[in-house]
Amino acid sequence: MQIHYNHILKKYNTFGIDAKCNRLFFLESEEDIVDYFRNHCNGSLFLLLGGGSNLLIKNDIDYDVLKPDLFGINLIEEDKETVTLEVMAGQNWHKFVEYCVMNNYYGFENLALIPGNVGTAPIQNIGAYGVEQEQNFVSLRGYNIESKQFETYSKEQCEFGYRNSIFKSKLKGKFIITSVTYKLNKNDNPNLSYTELENYLTQRKLEKTAKNVFDAVIDIRSNKLPSPSQLGSSGSFFKNPIITQTEFDRISSEFTDLRGFPQNDGSTKISAGWLIEKAGLKGYRIGDAAVYDKHALILVNYGNATGDDIWQMAEYVIKTVFDKFGVRLEPEVNVVE
Ligand SMILES: Cc1cc2nc3c(=O)[nH]c(=O)nc-3n(C[C@H](O)[C@H](O)[C@H](O)COP(=O)(O)OP(=O)(O)OC[C@H]3O[C@@H](n4cnc5c(N)ncnc54)[C@H](O)[C@@H]3O)c2cc1C
Repeated sequence: MQIHYNHILKKYNTFGIDAKCNRLFFLESEEDIVDYFRNHCNGSLFLLLGGGSNLLIKNDIDYDVLKPDLFGINLIEEDKETVTLEVMAGQNWHKFVEYCVMNNYYGFENLALIPGNVGTAPIQNIGAYGVEQEQNFVSLRGYNIESKQFETYSKEQCEFGYRNSIFKSKLKGKFIITSVTYKLNKNDNPNLSYTELENYLTQRKLEKTAKNVFDAVIDIRSNKLPSPSQLGSSGSFFKNPIITQTEFDRISSEFTDLRGFPQNDGSTKISAGWLIEKAGLKGYRIGDAAVYDKHALILVNYGNATGDDIWQMAEYVIKTVFDKFGVRLEPEVNVVE
């Protein structure tokens, strides 16, 4: 275990917010986690930190920050068609996807280049280009802070949903994920349900292989999304709202280009980026806090915005969109007070 005092968190969050914390603990094993709660935790709040790519740190943190830094990939089971791997929480997600593709283990190629760690991927059930991590998920292991036991959660127990899981609700801040087990396929049969991806391969006359999908996703994302090393952001700041059919009809009677994605329960998902753009906020900037000019769903830090500056921009976006459409946007990122 490493402990750092009065530590600057700027390089530990992709927004690049220059906040500091009282104590930063690097927890490098399951024993370190037990040790922290037995000998170092003073009963106050703490923040769990992975890659810091889905967080907005509003202010300095006057409590502990815990970074579970456990590494490794263990082979659990293998047969002719599948392989089951236990991946430790601190592994970088994109590097894990790359490892899978290089070893001909398929299923996650559409999720290339998503920032963050493997241990946090189940928390908001990361997804992109027609695939969500739950599709290859088997189980996860972690430390239950209340029972003080290590526990295993099955897929059903994780209650995965759209950018959601039990770790964003009942177990938020109560469970430290230490490893995740995934089952991957050996058949090279990529998911091309996302039209942009299919078109990308067709237009370039590329074979429909997982490796080509992996490369295509990297290329598409690199052109569309800001790289955290160049421009601070947390990716999509807001969730795509799910509205009733009546609300959809009301908005689309005025805005005929509104697209809806029907959900199983009769509701409709609409694009938060579309709402923000139609509200005239794409590229809107105050100081260094802005709505990204290439993608309205992303809030960015052009350099010296504070967490509070970004949050004020988020509140302005929420209010403007609500006043125009009567739809209340919700942050997808975790706002740290
Ligand atoms: C440019 C960019 C593009 C993105 N694109 C996508 C995308 O396409 N799809 C998508 O789904 N997401 C996307 N994201 C969001 C982000 O990458 C994912 O949500 C990612 O899984 C967050 O991982 P992290 O390790 O950075 O988590 P962090 O931001 O460090 O933490 C996220 C939450 O998990 C908690 N936490 C951290 N570690 C643990 C642990 N071990 N156990 C329990 N709780 C923990 C934290 O307290 C926090 O509440 C993008 C982000 C950026 C910056």
